[in-house]
Parts: sequence; structure tokens; C-alpha cells
Amino acid sequence: MSGPPLAGGWRIWLRLARAATEACAEAADALAAGAEDVAVPEALFEARGLSKSYVVGEVVVTALANVDLDLFRGELVVLLGPSGSGKSTLLNILGGLDVPTHGSVRFLHHDLTNAGEEALTRFRREHVGFVFQFYNLIPSLTARENVALVTEIATRSMPPGEALGLVGLADRLDHFPAQLSGGEQQRVAIARAVAKRPDVLLCDEPTGALDCETGKRVLEVLARANEELGTTTAVITHNAAIAAMADRVVRMRSGTITGVQVNERRVSPSELEW
Ligand code: ADP
Repeated sequence: MSGPPLAGGWRIWLRLARAATEACAEAADALAAGAEDVAVPEALFEARGLSKSYVVGEVVVTALANVDLDLFRGELVVLLGPSGSGKSTLLNILGGLDVPTHGSVRFLHHDLTNAGEEALTRFRREHVGFVFQFYNLIPSLTARENVALVTEIATRSMPPGEALGLVGLADRLDHFPAQLSGGEQQRVAIARAVAKRPDVLLCDEPTGALDCETGKRVLEVLARANEELGTTTAVITHNAAIAAMADRVVRMRSGTITGVQVNERRVSPSELEW
């Protein structure tokens, strides 16, 4: 189900979309005339009318309320919102870890909402890389072995050493997690997630446990993987400063999407401050 990343076409489309949004028909025409490879980007995910409720005792908690969202191939999206706004719930549903109470999710025209557990497991294994706030590395395995755990069962993976090189850890292959800093452990977790060449990388507060400088280094690795591998990437954060590194920022509050912003340019994570 994979295809070549449309990074170039995606960025041109973004500029067109921005020009159109600003009602600059002239600018849009000029851009269109000069852009031979204008392609409407492919929606990897189409989520429609997603709701999720939890019943806890006598209380019904609405985690998501009627959310519509597309994720396009090759883009880097930041899902920004305060704690409790439904970001993780949305990410978990997109990644096939959870199912909505109402609504539908399609991945490349495949309906995930009605897929059985077996199909969802295959979907996660073949198409999704997850990065969480806590790194979930196996303490008794080296960095290389932690990555190999995934690459051994994936079909189109890269060698663990290559994935660790991509995240700047070529000289830490045989280190155990306890011999690595928090930021390095998170980079191993990112190497593990990208090594199987997933279509999408879903990151839930990947810098939540890290100081600013270390967090920026981790975000640089995510931006690099997005650019070099063309992996569609969604990053959850409550930190507004991180939004500047994205192609698009999806703002959430109380289980709803309150706005979607297209960034004029992506700021390098090294330039972010918080
Ligand atoms: P965020 O990721 O933005 O912090 P979450 O998606 O984790 O938000 O949670 C959204 C809301 O749903 C919160 O109010 C949370 O307490 C509630 N919630 C999430 N998961 C569960 C669950 N398994 N059971 C009950 N309530 C939950």
C-alpha cells in the first residue's frame, strides 16, 4: 500500500491552498502556471464524525466529539491542545489501538472502523510506527537488539544499524538502555518505529519527559525522518512552541478540533524555544 512520498507536490499544494484560502486568485493562478507537478496530496487517513465516550461509574466522559480530520501523505502535523482535549484518543484511533464510539476512519480507502482485531494488528504492524512519551525499551536488550525486535517481523524494514544511524546513534549500537540518556533512549524508540518504514509515525508527547535542549534534538530526528523517508508524521503536544515545526497545526479543545492552521514555512526544531 505504500508509494513514493509526494513531498514536493505536497508543499506546492500547500502554497496553492494557502493562496486560495487567502482569496488570492491571482497568486494561485501564477503558482499553478509555474508548478508542473501540482498534485492534490493523497489522504492517508480520512476520519469522519469521530466520537469516543467512556462510561466511568455513573459518569459519561466524552473524549472526542464529532471530529473530522484528513492526514495527507508526507506531511508533518502537530496536534496541539491542553491535557484532556482528546489528542491521545484521536491518535490511538488513527493508529488502530482503539475504536471510536461513532464515526469512521479510512486508511488508504480501507475501513479501519469495522476491521476485526486481526486486521487491526496487521495494520499496526505493517503501516504504523508509534513513539510514546516513555520509551518502552526492553532493558536487557541493546539499542540494536531493541530495533531488531521490530525489523525481524516487518516485511520492508531497514537494518537496525541504518535506523540507528538515521537518529544519530551509530556509535551507540551496543549500549543498553540504562547506558543511554533519556533523549538517546527516545531516539532508539524513534529508530525502532521508523525502521520498518511505516506509512505513518504517530508520536504521543515524544518530548514530554525531556528537557528543552534534549527535546529539540528528538524533534530534529522526527523532522529528519519525515523529510528523508517521506513518512507522514503526527506529533501530539500541549507545547505551543512545537507547532512551528509542522506543515499543519490541528488545535484541539474539549474533544473537538477548534482550528487547522497551515504554516507558511516549517521552522527547524533547533530554532524553537520553550
Ligand atoms: P489528551 O491526550 O489531550 O490529554 P485524552 O485523549 O488522553 O486527552 O483524554 C481525553 C479525555 O478522555 C480526558 O478527559 C480523559 O480523562 C478521558 N479518557 C481518556 N481515556 C479514558 C479511559 N480509558 N477511560 C475513561 N476516560 C478516559
